[in-house]
Order: sequence, then structure tokens, then C-alpha cells
Amino acid sequence: MTIIDPARDLEDLRSLCGGAVALPTDDGYDSARQAFNLAVDQRPAAVVYPCNAQEVAAVVAFARSRGLRVAPQATGHNAGPLGGLERTILLKTSGMHAVRIDAERRIGRAEAGVLWEDVVDAAAAHGLYALHGSSPDVGVVGYSLGGGMGWLARSHGFQTNNVTAIELVTADGALVRTDRENDPELFWALRGGGGNFGIVTAIEFKLFPITEVYAGFMLWDWTHAERVLSAWGEWGAGAPDEVTTSFRILQIPPLPELPEVIRGRQIVMINGAVQGDDGESILAPLRALEPELDTFANVPAASLVRLHMDPEEPVPFTSESALIAELTPAAIRAIVKLAGPGSNSPLLMAELRQGGGALSRVTPGHGALAKIDAPFIFFAGGMAIDADMEAAVLAQAGHLKAALEPWTAPGHYLNFAEHQVDTSESFGAFTYRRLQAVKARVDPHNVIHANHSL
Ligand SMILES: Cc1cc2nc3c(=O)[nH]c(=O)nc-3n(C[C@H](O)[C@H](O)[C@H](O)COP(=O)(O)OP(=O)(O)OC[C@H]3O[C@@H](n4cnc5c(N)ncnc54)[C@H](O)[C@@H]3O)c2cc1C
Repeated sequence: MTIIDPARDLEDLRSLCGGAVALPTDDGYDSARQAFNLAVDQRPAAVVYPCNAQEVAAVVAFARSRGLRVAPQATGHNAGPLGGLERTILLKTSGMHAVRIDAERRIGRAEAGVLWEDVVDAAAAHGLYALHGSSPDVGVVGYSLGGGMGWLARSHGFQTNNVTAIELVTADGALVRTDRENDPELFWALRGGGGNFGIVTAIEFKLFPITEVYAGFMLWDWTHAERVLSAWGEWGAGAPDEVTTSFRILQIPPLPELPEVIRGRQIVMINGAVQGDDGESILAPLRALEPELDTFANVPAASLVRLHMDPEEPVPFTSESALIAELTPAAIRAIVKLAGPGSNSPLLMAELRQGGGALSRVTPGHGALAKIDAPFIFFAGGMAIDADMEAAVLAQAGHLKAALEPWTAPGHYLNFAEHQVDTSESFGAFTYRRLQAVKARVDPHNVIHANHSL
């Protein structure tokens, strides 16, 4: 059945999810439809807040019967690529927030709406560590389905390839638990193929007995950008797998809540983490660059969740990203020219994350995102408080990406892609066809609306 009278048909939604439903005519609709990225003005047909898998299944059945789609969203950190949601129910997962740690099996379980910080704290209480990313309030499920590259990425690979089971509601309303034994093809597709195959209600993943790491940041004035980036790039390409770092040129706003040492400054920062006892010797070449400030020390592993100082309140932002195959002197000069001193750049940050190591190796039992063949992953962005600012940031990030074109690798790291991209470029042709075949099998009518559709 397709919609005949949207207003009347959608009223029937109110009987679902215990009434936790916001329709466009409701006072609460504007706050309900808000994403973490405030630059995204999403206007779904309705917003629903299920509390469990049964309520999710009821929403999916409702949508299917009315010819609507369903878009799951935990936080809206990656709401940008979703596009128009006129005929889509936005299913917010914040009502599903249980975390369970099986310390004996070293397995974490997070319901659909769980944010990384909650897992990190719960795991740390058992001396365990999860492969979270740079932000404490990114959703575990969205991050994990898209890849998941954190501070132990070069030693442990993508979080997605450390996922052990996924529970989801498929487009036909079935509650499915998939793992290496149960529908392994669906399990494979979900791990890297993203939220295209159903509404994930819970995810299980490996935890690691890591309580301490050698981590922190080194900081220079941005006038040192070219010198530091040249040395970091050379060091990073050959560094051992135990270390994962990021290089950023940052223009920090003068916000009172920020530490004085960075507030209102234009700086270069390298941060990251080293596992094991060799932190000092591994980082010695970076220390030789004489940072103005160096906080690297042995710290609790759980503190890594705030190492990057990512924003924790919703903010308007926009960005571009790319995979970098080679960081040549000319590529470095291009980055510094467009994001460094004298650039007049509106970018808050131009970042390179260190790839390679386990991120570039295929491991047995991997998902659709087996590896990324790029020693560096580029991301540049900034605040988009109004349309002019958004256009300026996007233009500069676009110039930077275009300038790096001679050294980019094909494809996208989908977690970092905050606009619609051609997802086929992120997978080999065979993998992409395999993903499409799984999508056609589990969601033949395209009911599930993911940020990065296949
Ligand atoms: C500040 C910041 C820091 C970041 N740091 C890192 C990092 O260090 N490493 C990294 O790899 N990525 C990082 N990311 C990218 C992040 O992993 C992606 O934006 C990810 O998609 C966010 O997931 P979410 O659930 O929070 O976002 P949402 O926008 O809520 O979800 C994104 C997509 O995930 C899918 N999804 C979410 N929940 C479900 C569900 N229950 N069932 C099915 N599909 C679902 C949907 O397709 C949805 O559109 C960062 C992003 C930001 C903004």
C-alpha cells in the first residue's frame, strides 16, 4: 500500500514506540529531527524513538505497508549524505542504550543507541579496551558498520573487522542475529557496507586487555607546518604498527572552555598512542622536532576517548576527505599553502590520519571493508554556522582535495565522507556486486535508507 493521505496515515504511527513519535505538525518535531551536525537540515516524514527490537520491527512494518523508507540514526554525526527524507521515517536509536561487557570472553555488546564513551568506561572497569574512534559521542553502531579507525587502528585494524555478531531487524520485519555461522554473507556485508541491510539493534565486538598506553600530543606554532609535516610523513610511512597518530593544522577558535595553550591559536598538532614499552624510542624522531609542548606519557587507555578533543555538543560543520597514496614534498607544500600560514583559510582543521599497518592488511574472516590501501587518510573541514561560511569552508576543503589529486588513492573512507559519494569507488567491482546482491536479497524494495547507499 502506498501513501494516499500522508497526514492521516502518519497519525497511525503514534500508536507505535509507546507514542514516542514526532510528526512535522508537532511542537517537538524540530528538536527531534536535529542531527549532531547542525548544518544538516533533515526533514523526515516522522521521527520515532523505539526502545527495543520489537518496536523497531513494528516501525519497519508500518513503513513498508505505507511505501515509506526508514533511516536509522544514533547521533547524526554522519547525517550529511542521507539526502532528502520526505518519504522516510527517521528512526532515532537513543532509546536503546544498554551496554554489556562479557569480561571472560572479552566481548562487548552495545545496543543501537550506545555512544562510545559508555562502552569505553564499562570496558575499562574490567581492564578492557574497545576500538573506539576519536570522539566519545559517536555512535558505536554507525562507526562500526562504516569501518571504525581509532587510536589502535594500525595494530588492530578496523573496528568493523573486530565485530563478532550483529542483531538487526531486516526490511521484512524479521529479527535476525548474524555472525560467522549465521548468514555469514549478511554478516560480511554489514561490516563495511554500512547501514544498508537493516536496522541494527545490537552489536557485539572484541575487547582487548589494554589498560595503559603511551599517548598524548605534541604542539608547534603553525609556522612550523611544512617542517613538521615533512618529518611526520616520512616517519609515519615507516613507523611500526604499535603506533597510530594524526597530524593536524588547526585554527582554534577563542572559546573560553578550551585550554589556554591552544585557545584562539593557529597550531600544528600531532597526537596519537603507542602500545607497549617502546613509546619513547618510537616517538624520538618527532621529539627531535622540538615541539613547544609535548604531553606524551603513560596514561590510562580509557583516556584516549578524549585525546582528539573532538566537539561533544552538536555543531554545524562541513568537510571533504580523501585517501592519500603518497605524501610527497609537493603534496605537503599543497597542504601548507592552502591550510597553513598565509592561506587565509577558513578551515578549522586539515588532518591526516596515519594509515597502513593492520588497516592495510587483509585478515581472515574480514567484512566488506577488508583494508584501505592508503598510508594516510585526509580530512579537512570547519564550522558552517551560516550558508556563506559553509560555502567558504567547502570551497577551501575542495581546493585542498583537488590540489592533492595527483597523490590520492581511489575510493573513499566512508566514515569520513560527509557528503554523498559514489560508494562503488570504495570497494572493488566484485565486492560491490556482492554487497548489492546482499542488499537485493534482504531489502528488495529499498526500505532501509542508509547514509551511504549502495
Ligand atoms: C567529531 C567526529 C569524530 C569522528 N571520529 C572518527 C574516528 O576517529 N574514526 C572513524 O572511523 N570515524 C570517525 N568519525 C566518523 C563516524 O564514525 C561516522 O560519522 C559514523 O557514521 C557516525 O556514526 P553515528 O551512528 O554516530 O552517526 P549517525 O549519523 O547517527 O549514523 C550514520 C549512519 O550509520 C548507520 N547507522 C547508524 N545506526 C544504525 C543502526 N542502528 N542500524 C543500521 N545502521 C545504522 C546509518 O546508515 C546512518 O546513516 C567521526 C565523526 C565525527 C563527526
